[in-house]
Amino acid sequence: MSDTPIRPDPVYTADAAFFWEAADRSELSCERCTDCARLRHPPRPMCPWCRSTAREAVRLSGRGRVLSWIVPRHPAPIGFAESPVVVLVALEEGIRLVSNLEGVDPERIAIGLPVEVAFAPTRGGHAVPVFRPAGSAR
Ligand code: ZN
Repeated sequence: MSDTPIRPDPVYTADAAFFWEAADRSELSCERCTDCARLRHPPRPMCPWCRSTAREAVRLSGRGRVLSWIVPRHPAPIGFAESPVVVLVALEEGIRLVSNLEGVDPERIAIGLPVEVAFAPTRGGHAVPVFRPAGSAR
């Protein structure tokens, strides 16, 4: 079995470039409106609360808890040897993020499970944030 990552590269957009560049540095980030100070994810050009276009990137702790998860079975996953666990994480900063959960048997996942961010390599040499049970990150 090859050690070459098969996970697809992230799709860069003008709004999300900062997020993926941070992931390449093993940092989890999101946008903060510089007018009302609310955090938001996914990245977008305008604040959904005050409609300001003023924003900045902020680094997040990477700690949170599982809100929900699924293991998609059909169609077969593209870019993964096995179906990944798709997880909705409530980050401690108060925003939610859809990601993958690794390092845990799906039978042991529970709502509220503490998790922390890790970074998975992609086939093109980038990294994407994934989550692992808290205390088990590489
Ligand atoms: Zn705002």
